[in-house]
Amino acid sequence: MDKSNNQITVTSPLLPPLEEFIPYLQEIWDSKWITNNGQFHQKLEQALCEYFGIKYISVFTNGTLPLITALQALNVKGEVITTPYSFVATTHSIWWNGLQPVFVDVDPKTGNIDPDKIEAAITPRTTAIMPVHVYGNPCDVERIDALAKKYNLKVIYDAAHAFGVRVPLRHPERSEGSHSDTSILNFGDVSTLSFHATKTYTTIEGGALVCHSAEMKQKIDYLKNFGFEDEVTVVAPGINSKIDEVRAAFGLVNLKHVDDAIEHRHRMVNAYREGLKEIKGITFFEDMPGVRHNYSYFPIFVDEKEYGISRDALYTKLKENGILSRRYFYPLISEFSPYRSYASAIKENLPVANKMADSVICLPLHAGLSDEDVNRVLNCIKR
Ligand SMILES: *Cc1c(COP(=O)(O)O)cnc(C)c1O
Repeated sequence: MDKSNNQITVTSPLLPPLEEFIPYLQEIWDSKWITNNGQFHQKLEQALCEYFGIKYISVFTNGTLPLITALQALNVKGEVITTPYSFVATTHSIWWNGLQPVFVDVDPKTGNIDPDKIEAAITPRTTAIMPVHVYGNPCDVERIDALAKKYNLKVIYDAAHAFGVRVPLRHPERSEGSHSDTSILNFGDVSTLSFHATKTYTTIEGGALVCHSAEMKQKIDYLKNFGFEDEVTVVAPGINSKIDEVRAAFGLVNLKHVDDAIEHRHRMVNAYREGLKEIKGITFFEDMPGVRHNYSYFPIFVDEKEYGISRDALYTKLKENGILSRRYFYPLISEFSPYRSYASAIKENLPVANKMADSVICLPLHAGLSDEDVNRVLNCIKR
């Protein structure tokens, strides 16, 4: 994170101006209400609903517990179809519910679970699908939701990367007002978000679970508070995953800055794309028609034969030049020891995901990155 040594970091947290945050701290100190559904917790939920154009959100202390709680709230049993090309928390949440993950290969155009391959993985024990909007690229939500309907499956979208992503509207009934697009969070049974320090929008640690009914929101609120319905009633073995007032207030302040941050990221991504388009053996995603992207990551894929050196060699070269990139996602979740013995984890079942994991590098991208930084990265890749 220290610029004095001339290092370019892969990420850097979105921090609001300190002077904007201090009055909130004063208010929290004065009130002596520091957690347990305080005013900033409630205000953050309201502000996020307005920002996204959604009806129900429950904020959490991180982005993993909403995944775990979602499966519990939806009473998911047996097998859950998911993607190996994600952060390990996605599959961990399935494990924590005593369920079996079933890995399905991804689509090379997006990095997301391939809807064409989902049907073949459905068995009588399948009860849910847990796709991920990887890098903020929206999944084929229409097809996934249709498959779920056909087979009576729940859909839990891990939208940890998809803060602020909007897709063109095909179902006007989902719209809020006059928008021609809608939040990606309006699909599936529920979606989860992460507000971790490395994400586009952050509450330091934090996350949320988005749902579509007041009953589900109530259930989730109980589950994130030990299962308490009231002082003397526990409805289920819930966990403690409430966010505190300090981080909720931090989130309220940061929400005012996230659109500027996304705009800056967009400019940096355009500069990367412009600089990389002539380089043989380096490919990257383009924007999808009608989608409001959030530019949360800039993954590139290295074809060793065409580019001349391997992905790992480029990764090391960048590092030697003071540029910290990240092999994200590598290794695949299906390669980690808790999961590699599953039948669906074998490489032959996941050729596209394996190829992506072996060729990907996420380049530095954050709200503090400068044009000069991008040029330094580009020059290093070009040399
Ligand atoms: C970051 C992330 C999570 C976990 O979020 P935390 O807030 O770190 O617990 C889950 N899924 C994906 C895809 C992520 O990138």
